[in-house]
Amino acid sequence: MAKKKLVIAGGGTSGWLAAAALGKLFDRVFEVTLIESEEIGRIGVGEATIPPLRTFHRLLGIDELDLITSIQGTYKLGIEFINWARKGDNYFHSFGVTGKDCWACDFQHFWVAAKQKGLADQFGVYSPELMAARAGKMWAYKEHGLNFAYHLDAGLYANYLKQHALKHGVKRVEGIFDNVNIDPASGNIRSVTMRSGEEVEGDLFLDCTGFSARLIEGALNTSYLPYGHYLPCDSAVAVQTEKAGPPRPYTQAIAHDFGWQWRIPLQHRVGNGLVYCSRYVSHEQALETLMANLESKAITEPRAFCYKTGRRTKAWSKNCIAVGLAAGFLEPVESTSIHLAMSAILRLMKLVPNGTFDGAAVEEYNRQYCEEMDRVRNFIVLHYHATERDDSAFWRYCRDMEIPESLAHRIRLFRETGAMPLQEKELFQVDSWTQVLIGQRIVPQTYHPIVDQMPDEELKAFLQAMENEVSQKVSRMPSHQEFIDHYCKAEMI
Ligand SMILES: Cc1cc2nc3c(=O)[nH]c(=O)nc-3n(C[C@H](O)[C@H](O)[C@H](O)COP(=O)(O)OP(=O)(O)OC[C@H]3O[C@@H](n4cnc5c(N)ncnc54)[C@H](O)[C@@H]3O)c2cc1C
Repeated sequence: MAKKKLVIAGGGTSGWLAAAALGKLFDRVFEVTLIESEEIGRIGVGEATIPPLRTFHRLLGIDELDLITSIQGTYKLGIEFINWARKGDNYFHSFGVTGKDCWACDFQHFWVAAKQKGLADQFGVYSPELMAARAGKMWAYKEHGLNFAYHLDAGLYANYLKQHALKHGVKRVEGIFDNVNIDPASGNIRSVTMRSGEEVEGDLFLDCTGFSARLIEGALNTSYLPYGHYLPCDSAVAVQTEKAGPPRPYTQAIAHDFGWQWRIPLQHRVGNGLVYCSRYVSHEQALETLMANLESKAITEPRAFCYKTGRRTKAWSKNCIAVGLAAGFLEPVESTSIHLAMSAILRLMKLVPNGTFDGAAVEEYNRQYCEEMDRVRNFIVLHYHATERDDSAFWRYCRDMEIPESLAHRIRLFRETGAMPLQEKELFQVDSWTQVLIGQRIVPQTYHPIVDQMPDEELKAFLQAMENEVSQKVSRMPSHQEFIDHYCKAEMI
């Protein structure tokens, strides 16, 4: 069967991620062309990731050691949340497993019972990833390896993927396209016309043009479902700073009166930014707050971003699939955007295995896309809504806003019973939900009665043994900086 022509419009992280994957894995199905414009450039942020990206890299044949060295990457064991539920609060959402569960209930039930009886420590002390993060340690090998993701330099990462894609035969077209040519009979995109006059034809188009969404919205008028009511932040300002000491093996998310600030430590510099809601603060004040809260000297001019949180009503319309920012944007607090682009590419590969598609595949793609976006949205909304802060109009809005009933139900159930009713294939699992809920001060009032079958002494010993095991493991680990130094020299492999 003749290969189909796949055109990827846009060469940011999502475009090159798609090109690297489809160029390597679907080269018998698609002839892949990617269009990008150096003049327009990339968004240039998006430097924190979550663990599933590592599996995707393996699928692409990317060597982790080579990657981390080439992109000035560091290791990320989770996110530290500061000042979210109350000013002065500090909790972690780590990528690890906390404690041990049993057939009847998850670990939080044991912890709640022990806490009520005065037998337990903080929830986090039973997670190796969390305790290693707090201690500034890192270990990725053998039986005690931690679960981790990366901090990466966005520009270097996109270029790394680009080299990978070009090596696998992806064709690159440089320049800007202005016209999108639609076939009048089918309504499908037939081609795009470059300013040079070149026409790039395709059977299937991926819209990876970022917020401008040139194909899915500009040409096909696919509507956007705003999430602004639940996720009211709509602006950000970002600046890079010099390296500020040894890099932390985690991202920081520091709440301010009208939004929150990120710190993403790389090997050679730190990425910083402040996400805010323009209804509650001016750009000037947001910028001033960011600059006043940097840990080291700025090395770039600050850059401003405006966005609308939400998703497409359909990510796949006609013969075009929006991937990355063109498909929607939640917001960066849980570093989910690159993941969602990756997930879109995997979904495409699963539903269109031989390059041809019909209405059922399109329908299923869109169903899965909407469900995924809404679920991840709920997890992010939790961070804002579950706050006790009433010291600013922004946090009062978040605390009092109406939230999706599916999320409200989950919070109620957890608060009343400690149960966490997950659906199949949710991105964020019990360990993530419980860490954020408890961190945001939603602690279950009761626990599963099976825990009471364990005598108090046994429960105490069970928790103590786990805490000791975690702390012994962590004490043997090298610091994050030592790990990077050795890892990059490949001594440990
Ligand atoms: C403030 C902020 C913080 C973020 N932080 C994170 C994070 O920590 N983790 C995370 O996972 N994600 C984060 N994201 C999201 C992340 O930046 C994006 O998901 C990622 O960079 C992918 O962007 P993209 O490729 O879709 O778009 P872009 O990088 O904008 O790429 C668009 C491409 O399209 C091309 N293009 C556009 N129009 C045309 C045209 N007419 N002709 C030719 N070419 C064209 C451009 O040249 C460019 O190559 C953040 C986003 C924001 C706004």
